[in-house]
Amino acid sequence: MDRRLLGIPASPGIAVGPVHLLRWEIPEVRHRIIPDDAVRGEIHRFHDVLDRAKERLRQIRERVEATTGPQEAAIFDVQRSILDDQELISAVEELIKQNLGAEKAFEIVMFEWTQRFSRHAHPMLRERVGDLKDVEIRVLTLLLDLPDHDPVDLPKGANAILVTHDLTPSLTVQLDRQAIAGIATDAGTRTSHVAILARSLGLPAVVGLRIATQELTGRETVILDGSTGILAINPSHQDIESYRERARHEEVAEVELRNLATLDAVTTDGVRVTLRANVDLPEEAELAARSGAEGVGLMRTEFLVVGRATMPTEDEQYRAYKRVVEAFGGRPVVIRTFDIGGDKLPVGGFPAEPNPFLGWRAIRMCLDQPELFGVQLRALLRAAVHGDIHIMLPLVVTLDEVRSARELLDEAARVLEARGAKFRRDVPLGVMVETPAAAVSCDTLAKDVAFFSIGTNDLVQYTLAVDRGNANLASRFTPLHPAVLKLIQRTVVTALENNLDVAVCGEMASQPLMAVALIGLGVRQLSVGPRSVPLVKRIVRSISVAMAEEAANAALRAATAAEAEAELRKRLSGVLGEDGYGSASTDSH
Ligand code: PEP
Ligand code: MG
Repeated sequence: MDRRLLGIPASPGIAVGPVHLLRWEIPEVRHRIIPDDAVRGEIHRFHDVLDRAKERLRQIRERVEATTGPQEAAIFDVQRSILDDQELISAVEELIKQNLGAEKAFEIVMFEWTQRFSRHAHPMLRERVGDLKDVEIRVLTLLLDLPDHDPVDLPKGANAILVTHDLTPSLTVQLDRQAIAGIATDAGTRTSHVAILARSLGLPAVVGLRIATQELTGRETVILDGSTGILAINPSHQDIESYRERARHEEVAEVELRNLATLDAVTTDGVRVTLRANVDLPEEAELAARSGAEGVGLMRTEFLVVGRATMPTEDEQYRAYKRVVEAFGGRPVVIRTFDIGGDKLPVGGFPAEPNPFLGWRAIRMCLDQPELFGVQLRALLRAAVHGDIHIMLPLVVTLDEVRSARELLDEAARVLEARGAKFRRDVPLGVMVETPAAAVSCDTLAKDVAFFSIGTNDLVQYTLAVDRGNANLASRFTPLHPAVLKLIQRTVVTALENNLDVAVCGEMASQPLMAVALIGLGVRQLSVGPRSVPLVKRIVRSISVAMAEEAANAALRAATAAEAEAELRKRLSGVLGEDGYGSASTDSH
């Protein structure tokens, strides 16, 4: 083996394959002046490249339509229409006639267009900025004769390890899983959405490698170990064999855990803990139901949107929600309304913001776009006829948001009634407690909602002011910080006082040591990725609430996250195993 890079384990599993290096960035363009007699030839070259780009888009569109679906493929129609735009073509020709090289002329025009679109009052046009960027990369790559790193154009069976700086969820959902065997990124952490999505897709992933795209050329073979965070470059046959052996062991351990699916999640002192699954894509519903989960604690509906050029219709959404509800029979299914924004953007993106995590996202965006929100609410009320749907609002900071959402929910019911559609009106409405504002003032929300669900990924991010996706800050993202534990405790106590259900659906619930702390803090409902359900069940079955409470109290008294972890480990390592995590791996997915 040449060397190893160590990153953050993001999605377990071992993959061995050739590197597919993805540099999806606008290439640098030199200022090049051409003589008068070269102008005609340069315009001709530009048109030739446009034709080649269109042909490329046609091929990719076909592939995406076959592998992912027509909605995802439609993105490429938008990009093609940009290449056909007469105004754009004439503007580039004009600059070439002023003796600029085609690549510089194209870059200048694309810059003007991007500026114009990103400031446009209409959100649909602002969304086109992402398409402009894709088109710019594609055309400049051809004009400059650079290697083509197209992210969605790998042949089936390539078994490639995609190595890139950062991967957006929209690219992730477009990836052909029959071509990609694993994902490695420079950026990102365990709680970035690309990591969450990789776990949902069952794709091994290592994130936060920092220098992978600099170190690799694209000609290497690598072993990617999603459980330990190792990327081994140019491994020997022996290395590969020993990793394959590890992969076989992991599979056996997983089968053993799966056998717990039918057992109850009850502690040794007889307390029931409800274990639900987080579902990111409707296609996961059946797998999640087989994991032994007692319903869905969080369905992230925004993944119905990312990777598409248009919003899903009411009927499309209705079918997606119905599928999940039906997979779980009569069990509760908590569906969160669109949490678009932050690092979860649809294709084309929303307007670029200087602080997207503090920006126009989630419930803010939905309330500002009642038509878009209304479509989702109507689909949810209709799907509720088929099971026990609960609606959950993300990123709530004030009661006003809950009240406005409820008004829109009533309005959705009125529209459905007038239409004579079948729907359920009495769907419980709850909130995610994932901002310090919501946690500190959850008493002000309690009277108006049916349940709380604590989103620890964002709660930690906003409480500690640590970007959840920033690899350089990963060691500062500490859910056991006293501030976080106190906010969780406060939320649980308030919920109990008000007779409300309270769950935890952030990643903390799937980290064994932390799951025990949550149970000790009084949480009786945990929602975790489907692949984590068996492990968390095993943990619940091996501890007593008395011991969890004692451990949580000790953690609460600690002054730092490290001390809190030491307190938990001291009390629990005997029960959960020497490493305090209940398994050989610290990753629970
Ligand atoms: C959270 O913030 O903890 C959460 C569960 O939601 P998401 O990870 O989708 O932001
Ligand atoms: Mg969140």
